[in-house]
Amino acid sequence: MNVAGSAREKKLAALLAELPAGLLLTAPEDMERYTRDWTGDHHGLPLAVARPRSTADVSRLLAFCSQNGIGVVPQGGLTGLVGAAVASTPRDEVVVSLDRMNRVRSVSPIDYAMVVEAGCILEDAKAAAEAQDRILPITFGAQGSCRIGGNVATNAGGFNVLRYGMTRDLVLGLEVVLSDGRVWNGLKLLRKDNRGYDLKQLFIGSEGTLGIVTAVSLKLFPKPSQIETALVGLRSVADAMELYARARRECSDLLTAFELILRGGIEIALAARSDFREPFETVCPVYVLIEASAGGRVDLRAILEDFLIGASDLVVDGAVATSRAQAAQLWLLREVMVEAQGRGGRYLRTDVSVPISSLAGFVDDALAALSASHPQALAVTYGHVGDGNIHLNIVPPVGMGDPADIEHLFHEAEMVIFDVVDRYDGSLSAEHGIGRVKQAAFLERVDPVSLDLAFRIKRALDPAAIMNIGRLLPSEETDERGDP
Ligand SMILES: Cc1cc2nc3c(=O)[nH]c(=O)nc-3n(C[C@H](O)[C@H](O)[C@H](O)COP(=O)(O)OP(=O)(O)OC[C@H]3O[C@@H](n4cnc5c(N)ncnc54)[C@H](O)[C@@H]3O)c2cc1C
Repeated sequence: MNVAGSAREKKLAALLAELPAGLLLTAPEDMERYTRDWTGDHHGLPLAVARPRSTADVSRLLAFCSQNGIGVVPQGGLTGLVGAAVASTPRDEVVVSLDRMNRVRSVSPIDYAMVVEAGCILEDAKAAAEAQDRILPITFGAQGSCRIGGNVATNAGGFNVLRYGMTRDLVLGLEVVLSDGRVWNGLKLLRKDNRGYDLKQLFIGSEGTLGIVTAVSLKLFPKPSQIETALVGLRSVADAMELYARARRECSDLLTAFELILRGGIEIALAARSDFREPFETVCPVYVLIEASAGGRVDLRAILEDFLIGASDLVVDGAVATSRAQAAQLWLLREVMVEAQGRGGRYLRTDVSVPISSLAGFVDDALAALSASHPQALAVTYGHVGDGNIHLNIVPPVGMGDPADIEHLFHEAEMVIFDVVDRYDGSLSAEHGIGRVKQAAFLERVDPVSLDLAFRIKRALDPAAIMNIGRLLPSEETDERGDP
């Protein structure tokens, strides 16, 4: 008799008996689309996939799982980049997909706020806000697939953080189902509320380890009537940082994006699309994509052009978009670069941050260290300058096919990058979180007091130890560092 098999079948039978019909998928072919994330690097077969329709469904499910010790993996749009939203096959976990809880509950233009269910796709939430002449500013490449609950659980950043902040800065309130099934209703529209601990902050960025977010109230902003976009070429990252400092002074809060791309990234985009041309005549080592936006009473174009003319000691060449289509083309260059960087294969992703004042030094030192340690690997460097956040990604040399060699390269290159991050007192994850992928490096660096506090919070909110076990924090049952 297969004991493991029968334990799995018993759990499954109990789940099916407890939960309303139509809530669970259990056939492997039905569960397939919930088993693999965007990277393709992480996949796992769950015990079942639950697709709740309501907060009450989530509550009933978690109460049952907690009473029966069944592990739970909250899942949004599967675009997370640290392997935290797919099941770990040996654990017999239940994936809880929020994809059916995708309603926009309300948009209040006067409150500059909206309430959406956690399974709402970010792009749909943005469209609902725009329909009321407001914007939800969270913006990044995966916005057509990721879901609001995932954005909250990862505290997503993106292009507009320098003006509007991270997701954490945009959340007014949350509705969360706790691991024991109780519903915490913290779904407020209040801008100011000093009644004790700000509990919602615990769940933002918690990577599904403390509860399931079922709804979110979010801050909205006036929809800008003007948006100006420019791509400029520069001599060095240090010049890009000087340009940023001046832009903050001269364009102040009108700046919405300031994206750094090293020449290698532009070449990747040009190679990927035969219809792409050099953005302007001069080939530069460093490029910056600048976006500014404003309401109707400001001559935004004049501000941006005057600023760029005044910075002619730094700007080698550049193009200011004269239409929305041209602006979209400039952004497409960046998007295609991100998609094409791995040449269709695996690549190492990093999302580190350092103080803004150290960014140029960090990039120079990290690239020098990588070219000394791994001269054959291709480093693709881009990032959000205003947030001190750099993606320094590593593509294996052409011809390196053995997965073990690639894994070894990634491990070593990551250590080289993280060592430089440590020297600059930076963070090994500015955006994507820890999940399974960054756990070992995180545990090597986290101070004991922070780790102790994190475990206390975890035990208090998830006493049955069912929520996303082995992601972010190691499981306490064993001494494991990471999931099987
Ligand atoms: C092309 C691309 C570009 C990206 N660009 C950026 C970027 O610029 N900035 C940035 O910050 N990130 C970026 N990301 C990663 C980003 O974290 C995710 O895209 C997004 O925030 C995750 O949302 P998701 O719905 O896909 O979550 P998933 O991948 O499904 O889940 C991510 C984590 O959240 C948990 N989770 C999901 N839903 C819930 C819920 N309702 N309650 C509790 N926990 C939950 C999961 O268990 C998991 O730990 C990018 C990803 C891609 C693929």
